[in-house]
Amino acid sequence: MRGNGRDRSAPPPTPPPGAIGHDWFHRLSRDPTCIFGFDGVVRWVSGSWQDELGLPASALLGRHFADLVHPEDVDVSSAALQLALRGEDGTNHLENRCRAADGEYRWLHWSWAADPEVQLLYAVARDVTDRKLADMRLANSEARYRLMAEHSSDAITVSSREGIFDYVSPAGKSVFGWRPEEMVGREVYQFIHPDDVEGLRTSFKHILFDPNVSTISARFRRADGSYRWLESTARQISNRHTGELLAVIGNTRDVTERRTAQDALEVQAQTDPLTGTANRTLLTDRMRGALLRLERTPGTVAVLLLDLDRFKDVNDSLGHRAGDEVLVAAAERLVAACRPTDSVARYGGDEFVVLAEGLSSAEDVHELADRLVAVLREPFQVSGSMPGDEQRLLLTVSVGVAVTTRSEHLIDDLMQEADLALYRAKDRGRDRHELFDSDLQARAQRRLDTRRNLRRALVEQDMYLLYQPIVRIGDGRVLGAEGLLRIRDGGGGELVPAEFLTVAEDTGLIHQLDAWVLQQILLDQKSFRAADPSVFVGINLSYRNVADGRFAEAITTGLINAGLPGTSLRVELTERALLDTAGPSVAGVQRLRNAGVRVGLDDFGTGHSSLSTLQRLPLDFLKVDRSIVQNAVPGSRQAAIMRAIIGLAHALDLEVVAEGIESAEQLTAVQQTGCDTGQGWLFSHPLKAADYRGLLLSQRGRPLARATGYHKRLEPPVGIEPTTYSLRVNRSTD
Ligand code: C2E
Ligand code: MG
Ligand code: MG
Repeated sequence: MRGNGRDRSAPPPTPPPGAIGHDWFHRLSRDPTCIFGFDGVVRWVSGSWQDELGLPASALLGRHFADLVHPEDVDVSSAALQLALRGEDGTNHLENRCRAADGEYRWLHWSWAADPEVQLLYAVARDVTDRKLADMRLANSEARYRLMAEHSSDAITVSSREGIFDYVSPAGKSVFGWRPEEMVGREVYQFIHPDDVEGLRTSFKHILFDPNVSTISARFRRADGSYRWLESTARQISNRHTGELLAVIGNTRDVTERRTAQDALEVQAQTDPLTGTANRTLLTDRMRGALLRLERTPGTVAVLLLDLDRFKDVNDSLGHRAGDEVLVAAAERLVAACRPTDSVARYGGDEFVVLAEGLSSAEDVHELADRLVAVLREPFQVSGSMPGDEQRLLLTVSVGVAVTTRSEHLIDDLMQEADLALYRAKDRGRDRHELFDSDLQARAQRRLDTRRNLRRALVEQDMYLLYQPIVRIGDGRVLGAEGLLRIRDGGGGELVPAEFLTVAEDTGLIHQLDAWVLQQILLDQKSFRAADPSVFVGINLSYRNVADGRFAEAITTGLINAGLPGTSLRVELTERALLDTAGPSVAGVQRLRNAGVRVGLDDFGTGHSSLSTLQRLPLDFLKVDRSIVQNAVPGSRQAAIMRAIIGLAHALDLEVVAEGIESAEQLTAVQQTGCDTGQGWLFSHPLKAADYRGLLLSQRGRPLARATGYHKRLEPPVGIEPTTYSLRVNRSTD
């Protein structure tokens, strides 16, 4: 405790007799000052003793200094005094502990000057207790740290800002594989694996600038020449006041085991478990790297997207084991056919991607693609369905190629370009490759435009429905219509359904689209039913929405809200819906049928739906695709196919609708097959809602009898606008 409240009005203590200059002296410093006799006895003290240390003059005057200092400091203090008295005061200062008023000792820093003539020593003391304690704490922690360093199993190193070891703890022997004295004075980079030097230099630079702890790792060469993975937590040590960097201190351990396990995991996460080739993640990484390299060195990056043709058939007919064998063998062949610098990756079920850099000409690209197509053409040997059974299998592949020279090319775009090229290769007969070109570029651009337009049209509701009448083949009576969506393109034209539908399906906009159609169709159907209470209306449903239970619910509640019976709606599913892996849930279809809605299959005969599908799904009707109808001239093969389809459908109690009847000749063929209903330009083009309603009104009350024989005489079917119909008849009989 410092003393307080010295009476400032009291006169200064009396100077010792003979003392000179004590008045200037006591004003010299605000620090405690005093005057000793050469005998070591205090002759005079300044008032600051009271202020600083709580010691009144009375506690000091006449006392020998040895009574005042800490017993441990008496010897050094007297030694210093002796030197001073002899005039050998080269060091005229000293630090010792003096007792303060509270009985505690405080550290004082003394400076003095001796005057032999009057045998007095003028001394100034400064309280340095705080600094002294801090110094001691530091010394303690340094000792502790050294102790830790010497005994830690981690190697502790201190190095210069250039990376030269100044200190290596004893554990360095086992961690680094060198004796500490072999390392001190050498630069860390001399020990590092060449592949890691650059990375380490960067990390080290980082440490020099960042005061926080960093973790760095690298492979370190031991004295025996082997490399180990080491990891260091390191930080800079710098002068707290000047900020000057003094050293880098590191705490290093061997992490080889962990690292190896990590690497194995990484490899696992980046390879396809079946074929051992890269997976999508790694491919994306490599593509990113390849594109980055284009930034530095001009060149090309080629992406070849391969899809095994009809691979599904292998799985279906020979089983998944055989399918897997084919994939493994295919991957091996692709790897063998590529250069070591190319990457082969499995991209999906039966899709592979080859990433090739540095192909110098278009010919090189074509040549590589041709080579890949050729190696997969060789027969595959796979196990058959019976154990021990070997099968020879012939497969082909289609390849889509995208090439770029621009580093800013987006990976997604590149893949999409390869995908478009692949589609064209499939379109043009498979077992070949196609290069993404300006043509496909235009198509890609169109897809983008379509997407934009689709979004706009949905927001602005810039779309409408047309209704194409569906007639009874027997008498030409209009039984209902199919709703067909039209979307304006904002520039006076319209989008093509096939295009906007794929884009809508790919982007998920299809949900909104189909929901809008449903709402509109139900609204229109109310007015159609007012004109003819028996007509149905057909809605096309994207395969995306078919399996969606919520959509089935939207349909049933929509019907109730519109006050329409379930039988007034027909749902057309495309064959694609059935190919979808999830498939339209039987339950979803059943739910609709329970509500009275009839469900049928659209475009039958174009795709892959098999007889089993027809048995599996509870359906009400089939729509024979117009590609079959249009070739079904009487007596043709197509007509025979159609007859077979219709026979089968009738056996399953399904109604058959013939689609795309354009000519009288086609109508005759359809009639001969026993088809129930039909639609097509011969009867009517798709009509605006109001026109279709007019048509329904005009057919009201017409006796059916008049129409029954129409197909024999090819008269206009009842209910169809005569002009449209006769126009067609006239043309087709020309
Ligand atoms: P779809 O369901 O098979 O529809 C029949 C298509 O054939 C319609 O084409 C129709 O205009 C056309 N067509 C009708 N009669 C004839 C004919 O005599 N000759 C020829 N050459 N064509 C005829 P559209 O309107 O272009 O529709 C194409 C496809 O788009 C439809 O095929 C359907 O799958 C789909 N689609 C149409 N509207 C919608 C919709 O609202 N939602 C969904 N999800 N798909 C729709
Ligand atoms: Mg349809
Ligand atoms: Mg169709």
